[in-house]
Amino acid sequence: VSSPPRLALTPGDPGGIGPEIVAAALAEPSVRAAAEIVVVDRAGGGTHPARPTREGGRASLAAFEEAIDLAARGECDGIVTGPIDKRSLARAGSRFVGHTDLLRRRLTGATLRMMMVAPDRLRVVLVTEHIPLARVAESLSTEGVLATIADTRRGLVDEIGIDAPRLALLGLNPHAGDGGVLGREEIDLLGPALERARDDGIEIEGPFSPDGFFAAGTHTDFDAVVALYHDQGLIPVKIFGGPTTIGVTLGLPFVRTSVGHGTAFEIAGRGKADPTSLVTAIRTAADLVARRR
Ligand SMILES: [Zn+2]
Repeated sequence: VSSPPRLALTPGDPGGIGPEIVAAALAEPSVRAAAEIVVVDRAGGGTHPARPTREGGRASLAAFEEAIDLAARGECDGIVTGPIDKRSLARAGSRFVGHTDLLRRRLTGATLRMMMVAPDRLRVVLVTEHIPLARVAESLSTEGVLATIADTRRGLVDEIGIDAPRLALLGLNPHAGDGGVLGREEIDLLGPALERARDDGIEIEGPFSPDGFFAAGTHTDFDAVVALYHDQGLIPVKIFGGPTTIGVTLGLPFVRTSVGHGTAFEIAGRGKADPTSLVTAIRTAADLVARRR
């Protein structure tokens, strides 16, 4: 009999809904049965203002760094993270935009991909993440798209356990460019990326026009969808996943999952917060640890 997966759980920003959803999740028998959970909390108890604060940012960062250390030392099998606030991090003097950014820096050399998951419905990996929309088109390259495709496939095979994954690539422009009339990125960048990916033995189709792709349910034919920018990928995954939407980081030496929502300061401390995403993140992390063993 192997020991249960051991997971480090960080509540995220102490002023947000993180602390209450941690308490609610830990009260669920299915969560306690799935894993041995170590809560890593650096907020020091008490009540915290329900808004971005320097203290909240500091506590979020300190707990996350401690959780990374625990996982890196093998003292736990994975990390599950609650919601942090980018403004709190900035006030704490952090130059990191978020958890994944910090992980990239701490684990230099690791190519990490954030995969957003609507369980049993949709997996999405982004080519560009947290950059202004005005910079998306100029940030795209054949190499960058190809690298995202290759990392997605590797993660699905090695970390998620899908033997021969089928991928889809979305287009950038309306109607995926309509043969070049509505934009040329599909012809100049995405087509060559798809060709090279197929040469490398990756099963992938595209570039699809995103509106029709999701409206027709075409995403159900694929194990993951590579989207070019934040809202293109995250709007459908959050609609399909609802409160069960989570994030899974690909490319780490340990398992890491996260909630699919933010700090929700506006309802923090009122007993209204839904722990479903955190419960899903914990149970998924436990499953992924078991798969890696
Ligand atoms: Zn985001």
